[in-house]
Amino acid sequence: MSALLELQDITIRFGGLTAVDEVNISIDSGTIRALIGPNGAGKSTIFNIVTGIYSPTSGKVLFNGEDITGTEPYMITQKGIARTFQNIRLFGKMTVLENVKIGQHCRTKSDFLSAVTGIINPVVKKEEKEIEENSLQALEIVELADKRYEYAQNLSYGEQRRLEIARGLATNPSLLLLDEPAAGMNPLEKQTLMKMIRKIQDMNLTIFLVEHDMKFVMNLSDRIAVLDYGRKIATGSPEEIQKDPDVIAAYLGKDVD
Ligand code: ADP
Ligand code: MG
Repeated sequence: MSALLELQDITIRFGGLTAVDEVNISIDSGTIRALIGPNGAGKSTIFNIVTGIYSPTSGKVLFNGEDITGTEPYMITQKGIARTFQNIRLFGKMTVLENVKIGQHCRTKSDFLSAVTGIINPVVKKEEKEIEENSLQALEIVELADKRYEYAQNLSYGEQRRLEIARGLATNPSLLLLDEPAAGMNPLEKQTLMKMIRKIQDMNLTIFLVEHDMKFVMNLSDRIAVLDYGRKIATGSPEEIQKDPDVIAAYLGKDVD
């Protein structure tokens, strides 16, 4: 196995605050890696660095061995990294299918306007067909293809979160970053989501997951990294993490569920 994503000594400072402090994480291809830690530990900031939203103050991000540090977000998507956000970012008054299609326009020659206004030239037409097919395939994976003509706002909460995953999948990534995908879900929705994440892994994707639900994390992850105040305090298998005294003191000990 080889590392698909490697964070090397990543540090980012916002004014006087060191939000991420010399963090090293290496994720093998085809695995599910969780990143856990208390609120404010720097988890979403790490996702923002990997996806090019922030440039680190120092350190490197390698993807497939290539240095992608500071690359623009749309280029990162093109290279095969997709993500969902901690807070749902959907267009409620657009259909489920349109919400998935929007995510792919970074990859094409056609602009968003031609996508919604109709099709003029053959290149655009071919691209639009591919986008439609990719979108439908992604919706099948999260079991939302039947609802493709519904408004996004009419979906249940769990379905909306799955729709965001579909939007990421439709860009054909090899690495998928999920920022608290199970937050606010009921137990049944969580079960469904877990099944889908496993299915996505079986499609040869690598998953980097931030999540607070420990049952969810421990069940799904191959390995777990733990952050506290921007520093990585542990890495290991779910079993190792659950008995790590530093992790229990910083995080798991406070977990009431
Ligand atoms: P987590 O996702 O682990 O809850 P975050 O990565 O969102 O934590 O935040 C880590 C810390 O960095 C927090 O103290 C947060 O306020 C700070 N932070 C994140 N982004 C910015 C920013 N753009 N400007 C200033 N501070 C930020
Ligand atoms: Mg966060």
